[in-house]
Amino acid sequence: MPEVFKTTCCYCGVGCGVEVHKSRDGSLRVEGDKQHPVNRGMLCSKGMNLHYTVMDTADRLRYPEMRHNRYLPRERVTWDTALNRAAAVFKALIERHGPESVAFYASGQCLTEEYYIVNKLMKGFIGSNNIDTNSRLCMSSAVAAYKMSLGEDSVPICYDDIERTDCIFVAGANPAWCHPILWRRVEAAKAANPKLKIIVSDPRRTQTCAIADVHLQVRPGTDITLHHAIARILIENGDIDADFIHRHTEGFASFSAQVMARSVAEAATVCDVPEAHIRAAASFIAHAEGLVTMWTMGLNQSVVGVNKNLSLINLNLITGRIGKPGSGPFSLTGQPNAMGGREVGGLANLLPAHRSLASEEDRRFVRRFWNSGPISPDAGYTATEMFEALADGRLKAIWIMGSNPLVSLPDVRKAEAALSKARFVVVQEISSKPETLRYADLVLPAAAWAEKEGTMTNAERRITHLGKVVNPPGEALPDAEILCRFAQKMGFPGFDYASMAEVYAEHCRLTEGTRIDISGLDYTTLQEKRAVQWPYPRQAPAGGGQQRLFTDNKFYTPSGRAVIHACDDANHSEHISPDFPLVLTTGRIRDQWHTMSKTGKVNKLKQHIAQAFLEIHPHDAVARNIKDGDIVEVGSRRGEVRVKATISDDIKQGVVFLPMHWGKILGNDLNRANNTTNNLVDPISKEPDFKFTAVAVQLY
Ligand code: SF4
Repeated sequence: MPEVFKTTCCYCGVGCGVEVHKSRDGSLRVEGDKQHPVNRGMLCSKGMNLHYTVMDTADRLRYPEMRHNRYLPRERVTWDTALNRAAAVFKALIERHGPESVAFYASGQCLTEEYYIVNKLMKGFIGSNNIDTNSRLCMSSAVAAYKMSLGEDSVPICYDDIERTDCIFVAGANPAWCHPILWRRVEAAKAANPKLKIIVSDPRRTQTCAIADVHLQVRPGTDITLHHAIARILIENGDIDADFIHRHTEGFASFSAQVMARSVAEAATVCDVPEAHIRAAASFIAHAEGLVTMWTMGLNQSVVGVNKNLSLINLNLITGRIGKPGSGPFSLTGQPNAMGGREVGGLANLLPAHRSLASEEDRRFVRRFWNSGPISPDAGYTATEMFEALADGRLKAIWIMGSNPLVSLPDVRKAEAALSKARFVVVQEISSKPETLRYADLVLPAAAWAEKEGTMTNAERRITHLGKVVNPPGEALPDAEILCRFAQKMGFPGFDYASMAEVYAEHCRLTEGTRIDISGLDYTTLQEKRAVQWPYPRQAPAGGGQQRLFTDNKFYTPSGRAVIHACDDANHSEHISPDFPLVLTTGRIRDQWHTMSKTGKVNKLKQHIAQAFLEIHPHDAVARNIKDGDIVEVGSRRGEVRVKATISDDIKQGVVFLPMHWGKILGNDLNRANNTTNNLVDPISKEPDFKFTAVAVQLY
């Protein structure tokens, strides 16, 4: 009989439970965990093929490698040599240029314990807040909007609300491909209850639209106008919850004045959506009892991403549809542990347990808890700021762990040029493929999924434990162990943990008394209960966890009321022009994950879509004499991409789409979508504007 290990899928934020079956010969097979409350045994194509990513070790990094200068090749070294060098260089740079001269760039795929350690190391002991992650590119607009409207970065809802609602508004997301198991639950709910209405807004007619009652095919950048138009109809028709607004919110009067300033007909023109479709969406919301608003990158990855989020959350607030079964705003986390990362303060402007970097009391509390040095009140460099700081020399050293920024950052050729200027680059990675390795002075081989232990938190605040199933190849080590060894080489106390359970226990203690209190949790409880939602305080009721937040209508703002923000609906993306007349939007495909360092190894997953492509509307193609399958050049003000054209009327005329997964292939970067994207960011969240790039397309 094979041994069976229970763990969690390491791809998207749905957080499906996985059983890994390990045979005597060491071979692995995965199945969905039938007992897991999230997926009830189902897995999507990526999850079903997880074991291949572990069993195929051909591309894996096995030993630390180091070079003394960039004109010499890297050579294999011992862990001690590698980490002594890292510590010596970091100490020298910090002494000469201050702690702001070094940075860590991590990942929403890190386990919570890894996130916790790197934050403690950087914020508490190195003394700078230059620790940011690729979650900045993914969820930071939602984080800011939750704080501004609800008072804290708190997803108020749970997956069971899918089966409890009668109206779902999916805005700027394609969960049928990007959160497949969650979407299977929506499809099943719709099949069981045909009265469940589904509204989808997206410039593309995606697979998600297959069960939509109305598809609002908006012009990119006009989401706020669309949400305002729906709000206006609801207000005009009296389909709002005046009592809830009066007792539990603030800001409605300004919001109402703002949305009344633009007629629905005018909004329909701005959004390029039939007015009847907007009215149909409003009518579905008006006649439903619940409302789940779901969104991902279509709203988040925008130069006005926070405002887009706020304008959607407003629909829940003005209808009073929050804190009740079947109702609430629901940001679908892109990465598996972006939420766990935020719990431990895993962005350059956060402290652990959602404490505030700006609060002297909070900084003092965390410092005392860690027994560390003073914590800087200044936010560190965000993801894109790190590369700007490398370019102009403010940042001298960067430690990149579990992320592939030379595919995923916007205006990526500029980011690559910036990385080449760094004095010292450490790459802590599982795979030998990422382009970052070309620039690495030190390569540290890391353990992958199923090769280490830890926890993650999914999109509904559900924490699960991931066990170790197999040993990592060669001398690769878990990320947490690498960081702790480095901290000890730096001479910092407090990093001599005996186990990951100890790290987790420390993190749990630090949350005590906060709104994300998980002081009642430990590894034993997690392994026994399999998955629980936070908060989970010491005095948690039997069963623990909390399905929904704000059930008492008390919000985490200073006034206790939710804030309805009146947002300007202008888009501030770069301008389209006669030279660059089309809008490029980038995104994911069904069977690949991020920059393909794991899914790219699985042949089965290439069968769906094997190469990068440009999706273009037939009219835009004809105007350029482009036929299906032709090689086209997509050029922006920054760079170009050359891929095959896929002609489809699923995409709005005037808009083109490129998948974001492909990087350089044999040194050729012409598949890399981010050659073209721009480095504008939302002024609050600092999340890039991936969904709006002005481009020209021509036959190559
Ligand atoms: Fe993994 Fe997400 Fe697929 Fe679930 S839906 S199996 S978490 S990739």
